[in-house]
Amino acid sequence: LRVEDKLYQNRYLVDPGRPHIKVRPHERPSANLLALTHVCPAKCYELNDEGQVEITADGCMECGTCRVLCETSGEIEWNYPRGGFGVLFKFG
Ligand code: SF4
Repeated sequence: LRVEDKLYQNRYLVDPGRPHIKVRPHERPSANLLALTHVCPAKCYELNDEGQVEITADGCMECGTCRVLCETSGEIEWNYPRGGFGVLFKFG
């Protein structure tokens, strides 16, 4: 199996209206924020039509990459999903 096929077996339970990660409002994205559109393995970060970085947290694997990258800059707000929500990993 390819890695992509294995990842496809994971499931994600959406917590409607309560995304566990938020991008703070910005006019122009910093290099950090732009990097998120490349490094997130779940491709949660995207540039919108206004040139700002947006997140769709559904599908987030809680890898922590974006959290570490923006730890000091505070450009994102990162929390674990509430109990029972978020990613459900399937191994093997
Ligand atoms: Fe993407 Fe990982 Fe951040 Fe989730 S924690 S949004 S998977 S980089």
